[in-house]
Amino acid sequence: MNTDCSLAVAERLEAVRARIAAAARRAGRSPEEVTLVGITKGVPVERIRAAVDAGLVELGENRIQEWLPKIAAVGPAARWHFVGHLQTNKVRYLARGVKVLHSLDRPRLLSVLEDRWESWCEGLRQQGCERDPVCLLQLNVAGEDTKYGLSPEKLDVFLGKLVSSGCKVRVRGLMTIAPYTTDPESVRPVFARLRRLRDDARLRYPELGFDDLSMGMSGDFEVAVEEGATLVRIGTAIFGPRQ
Ligand SMILES: *Cc1c(COP(=O)(O)O)cnc(C)c1O
Repeated sequence: MNTDCSLAVAERLEAVRARIAAAARRAGRSPEEVTLVGITKGVPVERIRAAVDAGLVELGENRIQEWLPKIAAVGPAARWHFVGHLQTNKVRYLARGVKVLHSLDRPRLLSVLEDRWESWCEGLRQQGCERDPVCLLQLNVAGEDTKYGLSPEKLDVFLGKLVSSGCKVRVRGLMTIAPYTTDPESVRPVFARLRRLRDDARLRYPELGFDDLSMGMSGDFEVAVEEGATLVRIGTAIFGPRQ
């Protein structure tokens, strides 16, 4: 094991945590309101283990094929999130241990999740997890052609159907990927808009417990935390460049 690399990961993790805490305080929030999810795509297993050894619990992947071999390699200390576009024929793999799906991005995926909901819950229970999984609805706030996600205009109809149909799938908030930028201030309006959409949805559908906001990546997480993120998804700022 390369100790230089472990040290670098532990130091970067510490620096990211400090920046999240400072951003939270600037916005009058408690740092504990923000969950750090380390995004491990393209990261060698030794580096992931170094981060877990340094106290990182929540990990996220965006491809099922890349995630499956990491489950055993990283070990039981990790709590896995899935953050990528999910093909319906891969939904069954969520039962191997995904606790939070950030990327519910289309009605068709919701209906497949509903069909497989019990087996997902059962899969987690067999791993000793008492809580049912949760999903976040991915919105394409900036309307980019290259990004997945529901358009914000469709949110209200989507949630109205979810509630009135008695759907079992637990949808607990919103997720977005902001446009790529070298100036994080330029994406502040995207995050502010996601937060307002979450606030409106919470008022209209209090029964959902629609509390979470997954927003912010390596290049823009401080702005996202200032705008109310409850989950930040950070890869390169913790693990270094991807392979
Ligand atoms: C890769 C990825 C991230 C992390 O990206 P970084 O810029 O490395 O922090 C976050 N969210 C999603 C959905 C991703 O695919």
